Amino acid sequence: MALQRITIFITADYELFLGRNFVGHDEVLFDPTEQLMRRCEGRDVGVTFFADVCSVWAHRKSGLDDFADKFETQMREALRRGHDVQLHLHPHWLESTWQDNQWRVATDRMYLSEFGFERGEDSAPAIIQRGVDYLHNLLRPTVSDYRCLAFRAAGLALQPDEDRLIKSLLENGIKVDSSIAKEMMLQLDTIEIDYRDVPAAANWYLSPDSGLSTDAGAGLFEIPIATFRCGLATRLGFLLRRARSVSMRRGAGISRSSQQTRWSNLKTMLAYNLRYLSGRPLFSLSCDTKGHNLSMLLDGFDDYLQRHHDSDEVYVSMINHPKLMFDPQFELLDAFINAARRRWGDSLRFATMTEVSEEVDKSGEIA
Ligand SMILES: [Zn+2]
Repeated sequence: MALQRITIFITADYELFLGRNFVGHDEVLFDPTEQLMRRCEGRDVGVTFFADVCSVWAHRKSGLDDFADKFETQMREALRRGHDVQLHLHPHWLESTWQDNQWRVATDRMYLSEFGFERGEDSAPAIIQRGVDYLHNLLRPTVSDYRCLAFRAAGLALQPDEDRLIKSLLENGIKVDSSIAKEMMLQLDTIEIDYRDVPAAANWYLSPDSGLSTDAGAGLFEIPIATFRCGLATRLGFLLRRARSVSMRRGAGISRSSQQTRWSNLKTMLAYNLRYLSGRPLFSLSCDTKGHNLSMLLDGFDDYLQRHHDSDEVYVSMINHPKLMFDPQFELLDAFINAARRRWGDSLRFATMTEVSEEVDKSGEIA
């Protein structure tokens, strides 16, 4: 068997909790992000941050400049230190309002497609364009040839209306998407995704005509998030470790249908966790999922590579969220980087989206 060339992207969705944040912004986002950067710099690995720029716009609009200033300063700092900053859009922020010291979340506007594709400043294409322009203006004074060229969708939902989303992304100079978690199917209250029918190859190109399930040969290059399954014994160990880490929480997600009460949060959390016991649940390569440990990640990643043994070249993302990371999660990431290098040696490299953009770019070849 020819040796696979593996490129892993340590990615981080740089964002607040969509529901309530139990502690201040420093503790939720800025401190763990600094810690993440420092850890990865210690291993000579660059992080690709998918920055939720809509949250900055919403805070500015409501006069909450302290958060917006810190967000922008930290993203400039990340770039200066050799990390990468790319586009993540949680568009509900555009319609959410700050009242009585808390955010009233526009739960009917969670996806880009819920903003429509007509002309107008609040349409999905206009939001994408605003995001790209914003990052260029923010980051070019720091790195003059900076380009926004990669995208991750809110809730990993590059659906529905994937054809029009792909078109808008390409029109705005995006070359890489990293939203798809292969084989994942989720029907949550806020997010519905179905990635069971995507190409078997490790990577492929998305075009407006091909949808998500065929390789268009040119267009938007997909770098999926690695996923894996594991047996019942591993899952039980996972759930035990998960139960023990239940106090490690800095905030909560949101639900579309019910009021944000502790009970509705608990119900969502229970339903979310029960799916790990039944059927053949899918795990994502991530250090922030409570309950993951090193052997699970290494075996899972190995499983992912074996499922793609026909691809000589594998570009794949690990997904993390600073808001979910505490000391054990940073230690796990550190251990994973170390162990992956030992196990796969020279056939594996860590990279950022910007570092590979030229080698994968066929965005201009789309008719
Ligand atoms: Zn996100």
